[in-house]
Amino acid sequence: ADEVHALEGSGAERLHVDVMDGVFVPNFTFGTDTVRVLRRATSLPLELHLMIVEPDRHLRTFAEAGADAITVHYEASPHLHRTLVSIRDLDCRAGAAINPSTPAAMLSEVLEVCDLALVMTIAPGFGGQQLIEHTLRKVREVRDDIEHQGLATEVEVDGGVDAENARACVDAGATVLVAGTAVFHHTAGAAAGVAAIRSAVGEA
Ligand code: ZN
Repeated sequence: ADEVHALEGSGAERLHVDVMDGVFVPNFTFGTDTVRVLRRATSLPLELHLMIVEPDRHLRTFAEAGADAITVHYEASPHLHRTLVSIRDLDCRAGAAINPSTPAAMLSEVLEVCDLALVMTIAPGFGGQQLIEHTLRKVREVRDDIEHQGLATEVEVDGGVDAENARACVDAGATVLVAGTAVFHHTAGAAAGVAAIRSAVGEA
């Protein structure tokens, strides 16, 4: 709660929660109990990034725990279109994510039912990794596809984002930047971490 309260009024626009199951990715992080606690601790929108297998089994539970948005992985969702529609039916914004090794084109057919397209800029599983530069080419491809289809889908980058590379992410077409280490491990505190990223992209 202390970490989250430090973000209120910092310019952070949502709280992005990486849910890991130890199967889709090698690590474990938060489950529904943590999401419920976070829901009570903050008024920031809660955006859940499910790095889990068979996400369909848990969508309702996470929605009821307080999610405003739920993002699932293309690589974990054989019926991605249906999954995204199910998320919207739960009154959550629907997101689809791709790993660094997955081509941008894999999102093309679902963008119309997608509120946010998330391009992983590291291999998911652990914080503190360096952004993989060539993933920004995919950010551009996804952005171009969205514009070509005349959609309002957000393009989100997640993994290794910091004040040094934030500008390059935005120039590539990202409209939502997710940062963990650069915020929570900032030497002057989380609010300063958010401010550094916002100022790097020209947002006061
Ligand atoms: Zn994430």
